[in-house]
Amino acid sequence: MDSLKRFEVWFITGSQHLYGEDTLRQVAENSNSIARVLGESRRLPVKCIAKPVLTSPEAIYELCLEANGSKECVGLIVWMHTFSPAKMWIAGLNVLQIPFVHLHTQFYKEIPWGTIDMDFMNLNQSAHGGREFGFINTRMRLNRKVIVGHWKDEDILRELEVWVRAACAWKDSQNAKIARFGDNMREVAVTEGDKVAAQIRFGYAVNGYGLGDLVQYIDKVRDVDVTRLVKEYEDLYEVAESLRPGGDRREALLESAKIEIGLRAFLEEGDFVGFTTTFENLHGLPQLPGIAVQRLMAEGYGFGAEGDWKTAALVRAMKVMASGIEGGTSFMEDYTYHLEEGNMMVLGAHMLEICPTIAEKTPSLEIHPLSIGGKADPVRLVFDVPAGPGINAAVLDMGNRFRILVNEVEVVSTGQALPKLPVARAVWVPKPDLKTAATAWILAGGPHHTGFSQAVTSEHIEDFAEMVGVEYLLIDDDTHLAAFKKELMWNESYYYLSRGIG
Ligand code: MN
Repeated sequence: MDSLKRFEVWFITGSQHLYGEDTLRQVAENSNSIARVLGESRRLPVKCIAKPVLTSPEAIYELCLEANGSKECVGLIVWMHTFSPAKMWIAGLNVLQIPFVHLHTQFYKEIPWGTIDMDFMNLNQSAHGGREFGFINTRMRLNRKVIVGHWKDEDILRELEVWVRAACAWKDSQNAKIARFGDNMREVAVTEGDKVAAQIRFGYAVNGYGLGDLVQYIDKVRDVDVTRLVKEYEDLYEVAESLRPGGDRREALLESAKIEIGLRAFLEEGDFVGFTTTFENLHGLPQLPGIAVQRLMAEGYGFGAEGDWKTAALVRAMKVMASGIEGGTSFMEDYTYHLEEGNMMVLGAHMLEICPTIAEKTPSLEIHPLSIGGKADPVRLVFDVPAGPGINAAVLDMGNRFRILVNEVEVVSTGQALPKLPVARAVWVPKPDLKTAATAWILAGGPHHTGFSQAVTSEHIEDFAEMVGVEYLLIDDDTHLAAFKKELMWNESYYYLSRGIG
């Protein structure tokens, strides 16, 4: 994953001419100070660029056009230091195509009770200037995040960081390419969906490729590169006896390294950010890609199994949001339940394709039969996931809209070794509890595939969903089924009335 430092946010300050040059100079100075502090803060993963104070409809309009055309700018942080009559903002906001956050802050943290005069009051007008800006955004039905507090406060920086990371994922999604090897797993419903609607809404394009296209790349892989990659495997993982030099399955390891190199070359050459495979379309491949998919995910590629392009794109977005922060992110599936009374848990896993960024310890490199698909045994990394908070996020196609669903979970350590389960796995307790969470998830039509993360939070996904303009549902400690059912019903009418059947 490339550093997010290639991206920028622009710091925008609204004002007007009425205050005179001295005040506007002061506004500009204060604005530059805030932008500089934000830019220097280690919290923000991108560059923060201060733009000149905006005092006219023309300047606002020009700035919005410039932001739309910028390759680096992921969003605007907008602040009203003074009062900026909001009709001036309509033309600009009408054409603005990138996310913005309304930072409702004030340059001075505290009122200087003993010395406050009208000059201070006239300069520090965020309290009502921000309301004028808020009105026009709400009047225009614009999605944006509103962050309130002093700009040096830690919680404000944290909220801004979350929003910036979501904006980077939004930017990354525009014109992104997802490669689909083969099609959907036959007869599966939830992994299907409207790719045209997804491209219009999220910005990414999904296109299919035959396995033969990939096999050509794999056939071209040189032995010397296979040897080098296998050496890397041996340095990084605990390699099973049968896969070591002289082991009876050594050939399968060389084969899987070859698949990884070919797959990476295909993705790099086509400039893809994510991909899907399916075990039903493997013609020309000896084994379902296991370790190849796992390691490519660890590099930042989005992935969805069984042709699940929506989850591949979501995992990619979560990888971008998580860039440079602690905790991993992976494709995931709710696999098996532990329904012991008072101690209910979910075992999450997949046949192979779980990302080693969520591994607790050095993964073990093993080979086992897949027991589905009728191909040679695939090589895979096996590991457990560390205890701690996490989320499962999913996206589904409701026919007239996309829905993003998040369940906050607590990964637990069971102390069980699972010696006969040869896949990477996580065990978690969903919030508020398994019974409520699974009921809510199923009523919401939530899929079995998710993006799992111990770095990305529900707030990142909420900000992202707002930028994209899709429905967002959260299942957390505050979820009550009666209210959740009503939310589902209300959302049906809201999305029907607000957008119609698209
Ligand atoms: Mn699956």
